[in-house]
Amino acid sequence: MQSLTLKQEQLQQMIAHVNSHAPLEACGLLAGHNSKVEAVLEVTNQAQSEVRFVMNPIEQLNAFEWIESNGLDLIGIFHSHPAGPETVSPTDIADAAYAVVHVILARTNGAWRARGFWIENEKYNEVTLQVR
Ligand SMILES: [Zn+2]
Repeated sequence: MQSLTLKQEQLQQMIAHVNSHAPLEACGLLAGHNSKVEAVLEVTNQAQSEVRFVMNPIEQLNAFEWIESNGLDLIGIFHSHPAGPETVSPTDIADAAYAVVHVILARTNGAWRARGFWIENEKYNEVTLQVR
């Protein structure tokens, strides 16, 4: 996937979610069609960690069921790096379990910035986030 399209309000929802949990990492899922996001689903980071995330499995299952019952696909996973970096970490590469866009929200000097990545074969490429 070369790009992911999302609305400004969806980006703001992700930022509000991760900001409210900082300095802990926060996470969630992006549902949609093809490369267009239709819904942001917040999921609890049960790791309660500043450096990694583990999605609460019950919430993740419920989110998957919601996505399917609404005729959508899982197209992205987002999580935060409250202390950086803006790019994927070795942990992110090791934990990447789904062929979806990985959106990372990193905080630098108090401001959140979102970037998208495609992780495959233990490498990653940037995916352009088109915010409309
Ligand atoms: Zn990460």
